Amino acid sequence: MAKNAKTIIIGLDGVPFGMIKDFTETGVMPNTAGLISRGIFKKMNSTIPEISSVAWSSIITGQNPGQHGIFGFMDLFDHSYKMRFPNFSDLKAKPFWDQWEGRSVIINVPSTYPVRKMNGVHISGFVSIDFEKSVYPKSLVPQLHRLDYRLDVDSQKAHSSMDLFLEDLDKTLDARIETYRYLWEAEDWQTFMLVFSGTDRLMHFLWSAYEDESHQYHDLFLKHFRRIDQSIGEIADRVGDDDLLVMLSDHGFERLDYDVYISYLLAQEGFLQFKQGEDISLNNICYGTKAFVLDPARIYLNLKDRFPCGTVDQAESESLLSQLEDLFSSLEVDGRKAIRDICRKEKIYSGSYLGNAPDLVLVGNQGFNLKARVNVDSLTNKAIFSGKHTQDSAFLIIKGLKDESIVPEIPAVWDVKRVVEKN
Ligand SMILES: [Zn+2]
Repeated sequence: MAKNAKTIIIGLDGVPFGMIKDFTETGVMPNTAGLISRGIFKKMNSTIPEISSVAWSSIITGQNPGQHGIFGFMDLFDHSYKMRFPNFSDLKAKPFWDQWEGRSVIINVPSTYPVRKMNGVHISGFVSIDFEKSVYPKSLVPQLHRLDYRLDVDSQKAHSSMDLFLEDLDKTLDARIETYRYLWEAEDWQTFMLVFSGTDRLMHFLWSAYEDESHQYHDLFLKHFRRIDQSIGEIADRVGDDDLLVMLSDHGFERLDYDVYISYLLAQEGFLQFKQGEDISLNNICYGTKAFVLDPARIYLNLKDRFPCGTVDQAESESLLSQLEDLFSSLEVDGRKAIRDICRKEKIYSGSYLGNAPDLVLVGNQGFNLKARVNVDSLTNKAIFSGKHTQDSAFLIIKGLKDESIVPEIPAVWDVKRVVEKN
């Protein structure tokens, strides 16, 4: 890394390459267009699964999930079917701010709660629960309250009123911008990272408003991106010629056609069984179960040495994996294949935590949102959401690289840290 040059990283949660291309060509994001004209702009692969907690953990550590140990939003307690929320304390690799020289300001990176002592300022992103545990140093808490800082938009509002949700989204963005401005000036820093996360929420609820120009919320959808682009312009103006400016997303997005419930499929085919007379939930998995699922589509063999009602011997696992691969690859919904990739853990992960990984991870085809939910009465459904994550269409923009050839042709999210370090 160049001495004295600063590094600025701006994250746009979930924003796909194609949308950046669209918005920079149609004038919605002129400042981002300016960055692209002076730097590189590439499609980037997310992690598998393409989930914010997993992908941001890879971005900040430069490691794959087998090394950093975060495989999803939820995970299981050891030798149990009981679910838990992994958080920042479960991350097994160091984030860049614990490695790079100089002070860092880190705002709103998902899955970095609770914060801990570091060299600089850290305000964690979703899922952050207690405000005090989301801010380091604690002395900054009163100032953040003065700025009306909000840890996250209240997505629940979208279920009752889209207008209230959009108002909350706006206020959350206002406060995020005011906070970045304040810390940019008030702190002495070498690295500054700011993540805009309302983009992901907006696209989950209103992807249809992006695609349909006559949609009642189309203009408000564009406005959110215009506002973010204004901040990007403001930041770009403050950045020196020798500084490195990185803009990226953690995964992409597209229209959601169907939710597809993988547990339902496994139960129908006899791979997954629940205790008679009990609630249908993971906690009530019974002997005889060969495989089960955690969100979004992480398949676990119900191994004897791994789970309390384990049914599968190691010797049996290879043939079971092949049976499951056949089942998933033949799954069709409305005449279309629902699953694009069926990945064995050894193919997508490496590292000391491979043993905690799911045995298979599925990636949905275009429009198919794979889900684990168990208590459903059909294979597919159309939910309130209109957008879903994609694995192969995150984006990466970098301005200020001395040698652009250090960026892989199609980078993955864990490559970004190494690129910054090499520069
Ligand atoms: Zn999302």
